[in-house]
Amino acid sequence: MHLLDYHVHTKRCGHANGEDREYVEAAIQKGLKEIGFADHIPRFYEPDQGKRVTERGMPRADLDDYVDSILHLQTAYPEIKVKLGLEVDFVPGWEVAVRSLIEPYPWDYISGSVHFIPEWDYGYVSYYKDRNAADIFTAYFDLVAAAAESKLFDVLAHIDLPRRFFPRLSQIEMDELYQMLAIRLGKANTVIELNTYGVRSSKQMNVGVFPEESLLRLCRHQGVNVTLGSDAHSPKDVGADFDCAIQLLADTGYDQIVSLVARNPIFIKWSEANRAF
Ligand SMILES: [Zn+2]
Ligand SMILES: [Zn+2]
Repeated sequence: MHLLDYHVHTKRCGHANGEDREYVEAAIQKGLKEIGFADHIPRFYEPDQGKRVTERGMPRADLDDYVDSILHLQTAYPEIKVKLGLEVDFVPGWEVAVRSLIEPYPWDYISGSVHFIPEWDYGYVSYYKDRNAADIFTAYFDLVAAAAESKLFDVLAHIDLPRRFFPRLSQIEMDELYQMLAIRLGKANTVIELNTYGVRSSKQMNVGVFPEESLLRLCRHQGVNVTLGSDAHSPKDVGADFDCAIQLLADTGYDQIVSLVARNPIFIKWSEANRAF
């Protein structure tokens, strides 16, 4: 079975650990066919360089080293495909600057994600405890859809991240927001990530995989394609809980995932493949 993990960080972002090669070795150990690094972009767009936010991206000075290291691993470990990606916050107004920052490098993919609502601040979704959940979900999904429409990204990561911190709205309200989001993602021909971070990070809230099943089902109806990511910030988490993601794909009727090379999608059918791994 062609399993890949397209969401792996490195210690450069300041909140991950381990050596780059240890992530690759963990992926080989787990029998993955591909590992894609997608460390956090330097947060050059921050208005105030506050500590709370800078700790989430790699320093600008580390970007060359990051790229060199991943390219080196591609040749050092021929038994697995090592992909060069980057996780980029979607911040409206900074599209041109992002394009010029990433332009010199040979990316396999750029993952777009929303970690904060720029109109509110540049912190993290979890900081919005004093806002009401309806405003958070509405603003978050609107940004995710706008990220898809920006065409800056090849993959969108953890598209319903606020579920990690906030209780769902009523089913009717969630379904309405999910439906609007899925339609916009479908129109933009988006690839989304099945992200297993929620499975291991917040068991008490029963967060599960991002996106949750009802949203994923709507995405499939709208023709949105998927890839896989663990959001590992430690080598031991590479490929973590992929059994949950694979089950979800089966339950929602997906029979292919997307592999990316030089920012081009390749569709890998796995309906005939052995589902055990
Ligand atoms: Zn991170
Ligand atoms: Zn993220």
